[in-house]
Amino acid sequence: MKFKYTDYHVHTKWSHDIKEFGPSFEDYLDIAERNNINLCFLDHYELYYIENDETYPFYDGKIEQYLEEIDNVKATYDFVLSGLEVDYYLDYEIKLREFMDDYGKDFNFIAGTLHEPHIGLPVTSRDLLIELLGKKDVKQVVDDFFRQSEMMIKSQIFQNICHLDTIFRYINIRDLKPTSDTDVSDDRVLNLGRLCIKNNINIEYNLSGLKFPINRPFPSTAVITQLKREGAKIFVGSDSHSINYFQTSISKVKKAYKFLKKIG
Ligand SMILES: [Zn+2]
Ligand SMILES: [Zn+2]
Repeated sequence: MKFKYTDYHVHTKWSHDIKEFGPSFEDYLDIAERNNINLCFLDHYELYYIENDETYPFYDGKIEQYLEEIDNVKATYDFVLSGLEVDYYLDYEIKLREFMDDYGKDFNFIAGTLHEPHIGLPVTSRDLLIELLGKKDVKQVVDDFFRQSEMMIKSQIFQNICHLDTIFRYINIRDLKPTSDTDVSDDRVLNLGRLCIKNNINIEYNLSGLKFPINRPFPSTAVITQLKREGAKIFVGSDSHSINYFQTSISKVKKAYKFLKKIG
């Protein structure tokens, strides 16, 4: 790669939560180059919607078109990596393994992620999380997230895992408050991280939490510091969904790498 640091988590209009009004690959290139940072495109790739929703950007084999476009960009710009943020679902392990067999080699970087312990109700959408919390209590929702995260890591389908504790994006004392019986301890997140270390899986230090009331990365600085000390391999991602956000995140991404390097 051309530059010293890489933002491993950048979304384009290929992501369903941005779609046609969002940025293209090309829109990011100039800013990245001027600021000396490599970028890895990590658009959402969710098998459930790819199978069931014809408005989903990757529906009906469009991954081939994606690869063609991104490979063209990579041929010209030596600071670009191709990647995907692939959703894990409990009942999809066989399909996910098949997907990785078929496409794993075509991308530089594929990361596993858990947004929907209950399909259709992502914990990363505040409105849909509130809908989920109308059906299940908060302890159950958090427990389900951690249990399924553990299964995702143990499955070893992915070599990289995104935002280990993104369940706390909205469930925290500053936003949707957990009940006193909900285990929101650092230990719980640390144990997921330790499971990644044990399975030789890279952990994301995802800076996107800084834009929510929780105002901290996923996982927190204290947790990532401890995991680094215990031998975790860490990549940094801004989780940008817009050019502006990407631009303002560049200095934070570089600072995060410098901070991680200093940890003994
Ligand atoms: Zn995500
Ligand atoms: Zn993302």
